[in-house]
Amino acid sequence: MGVSACTAGGSATTWTHAAGLLTVNLDRSYGPGETVQVSVSYSGNPGGEAFGWDTHLGQPMIWTLSEPFGAREWWPCKDLNSDKAETMDIRVTVPNNQIVAGNGSLVSDVDNGNGTRTFHWHSSYPIVPYLVSLAIHPYAVNSDWYTPMGGGDPMEVTFYVYPDDVGNAAENNAKVVGMIEAFAPAFGEYPFINEKYGHAQFPWGGGMEHQTCTSLGGWWESVIAHELGHQWYGDMITCADFSHIWLNEGFASWTEAVYYESLGGPEAYRQYMDGMAYYGPGTVIVENPYSENIFDGNLSYDKGAWLVHMLRGVLGDEDFFAGLAAYRAQYGFGSATSEQLRDVLEGVSGRDLDAFFQQWVYGEYFPVYRLGWTAAPGMVQVDIEQIQENTGLFTMPITLRVNTDQGSTDFVVENSLASESYQLSVAGNVESVQFDPDRWILRQVQTTVSNPTFAAGILVVNGVDWATYAPEIQNAYLAETFWGDNAFDFWDTFPAPAGGYPATLPAPLGHGSVPAELIGQYSTVVWVGNNYAGDLPKWQETPIASYLAVGGNVLLISRMGESFLAGNLASYLGITFNASGTPGNCVAVYPGLVNVAFTGSQSYTDVFSPSVGANSTLLFQTTSGFSGTRGTGVHAQPPGGGSHRPEGGQFVYLAGRPYRMDFTALGANIAFILEHFFAEPWTVTGAPGGTPTAAFGLAGSYPNPFNPKTTIAFDLPAAGQAQLAVYDIAGRLVRVLAAGLLPAGRQQLDWDGRDADGREAAAGVYLARLSAAGRSDTQRLVMLK
Ligand SMILES: [Zn+2]
Repeated sequence: MGVSACTAGGSATTWTHAAGLLTVNLDRSYGPGETVQVSVSYSGNPGGEAFGWDTHLGQPMIWTLSEPFGAREWWPCKDLNSDKAETMDIRVTVPNNQIVAGNGSLVSDVDNGNGTRTFHWHSSYPIVPYLVSLAIHPYAVNSDWYTPMGGGDPMEVTFYVYPDDVGNAAENNAKVVGMIEAFAPAFGEYPFINEKYGHAQFPWGGGMEHQTCTSLGGWWESVIAHELGHQWYGDMITCADFSHIWLNEGFASWTEAVYYESLGGPEAYRQYMDGMAYYGPGTVIVENPYSENIFDGNLSYDKGAWLVHMLRGVLGDEDFFAGLAAYRAQYGFGSATSEQLRDVLEGVSGRDLDAFFQQWVYGEYFPVYRLGWTAAPGMVQVDIEQIQENTGLFTMPITLRVNTDQGSTDFVVENSLASESYQLSVAGNVESVQFDPDRWILRQVQTTVSNPTFAAGILVVNGVDWATYAPEIQNAYLAETFWGDNAFDFWDTFPAPAGGYPATLPAPLGHGSVPAELIGQYSTVVWVGNNYAGDLPKWQETPIASYLAVGGNVLLISRMGESFLAGNLASYLGITFNASGTPGNCVAVYPGLVNVAFTGSQSYTDVFSPSVGANSTLLFQTTSGFSGTRGTGVHAQPPGGGSHRPEGGQFVYLAGRPYRMDFTALGANIAFILEHFFAEPWTVTGAPGGTPTAAFGLAGSYPNPFNPKTTIAFDLPAAGQAQLAVYDIAGRLVRVLAAGLLPAGRQQLDWDGRDADGREAAAGVYLARLSAAGRSDTQRLVMLK
């Protein structure tokens, strides 16, 4: 844009205009606090990335999107987030058939009598330059009305929609008033209540929170909630500079969860937050916003949302929402930094948040906790270790839920050391201790896999969201890609797909994360991962590291490996991640493996240096998509294996989306890995002297009656699918001791008197039941207390 004249203090003055910066020489010296009026006459044809001359179905479609630094490309402004314009007027003259959507209130729309009309929009609230916007098209315009919390005149909610898209827009635009009604009680009245809210359609994907007039490329419910949430967090309070962008994007992403909480309660909120958990590297602070991407989905949005969520957890709802109110009162219609937010929340709550901001805002990664507990009459001692290797110790309050035979009690303990113990007084017999049961902390918890049997064969775990990745993931299962020709059991981190499971899958044993007492029954876990819609937190809550340590074998196939392996598992694999992107091929480098063709984009795949650790072997690499060759598949086997299985503790990681690979080639590789490395089908060692026998049935238990443990012996005439389980006298399943492929002959398994959730079963009579090949045998067990 070209500048033709400037005035200062009402008189013409000189200026220089170079490198996007206009310097206006004032008419005289001004003191601090004095006001000076400057006017700039300018003209031109704005180009660049912030102002678009587009068309839609042959009609003009003119849009702006200035964040972060584009406003200066199309109008002269003081382009600082920390110095908002107190009011703003914009006048736009267009052909008569066009409609201009803008910020604030429409003052006038005048027919100029010459085939043109002029729209005058006025913002009466302070506004930052990057939120000034216009959107021009022969829109279809319709309105809804929001009644303020205290009553009074309703505020107009206006939708500017492409005429051909009115049908698509209607359903979710109709939810906007309800969203405002959900947010206003939580965040205070809609900030621009004297003006309006609305949407103007534009050709971008996603949305942009232009003040009072969000630009939208589509009608996704969560995006609509997000952009509305920005009106409080981003628009009313703006990050003081873009290094603090999480104050905009983290908060707005978190408001999405608040919206779903308003519809579905706390569990809907937690599930939505799970979908935004980010476990990878990086900080939410953007060191140099002029050269770095401020819109990092993982950091500015997802981890930023978790920071807000964790602040809510640390402070509790009362202090947290009071703190947000104080934050808006102090910085509303202005701007704020992370430190200013911290200070306000500290003032309201009386809590020191220094460590919180250091570790979560300026630091990377997350804590990895190891939990143990021992109970005594009237007391439980809980031991918590922090074992993360890639970052320092975290200072956090942690909720411990102690479940006893008389009920549950929550305790909050302050934790900041590598190893701490807590003595908690409780009534009743302690049955279990849950760590952060409502998931207020971005963390991994390692529970201990004790008494593993490895007897049940392969467990295939699905971590791919059925709704989003159908039919790709269903086809992968239908092609029997993940288990070779082995028998297997199935676990699903997600709820069942709407249309039912693919016919090749058995019914899942359960949903969510895999419990410690179940995973230890399997010799191999094949985890089909993705990191979308909440599977990654289920991986983080499954005791993978402990399972490897006792001798379980794990095969993980997923993109975003750096997030999956961020705790201590990348070092276990002996790899160093060094890039994220889209590998162009998958080249086998280990004899017996074959190249795998991709059937779709492998974006967001983390790859690693092809030189791997001493206990590791490179299996696959990619030679295109990155500069130089990168590793995409690795096998690690620690010397000595696992504590309970010297051959075990093996870990194979294959980088990429498991549902976008040639299933024949991938399946052949998995079959090879399971057989060659993992020695599947694994056979449990028989009891001493055990030899193949023609007998079938239970062969006695010792001791019986028992407390706390009994050993159950049984015979199988041939190797095959078999199950040994314990039922109570009413026929209810208490615990599966083994299920899967078992060898022929005499063998034995222990029952520790606990049910599938690890709780001690009550004293009384139980039935052990062996079933295989259509036969079954039952025997009484008596547990004494
Ligand atoms: Zn946003």
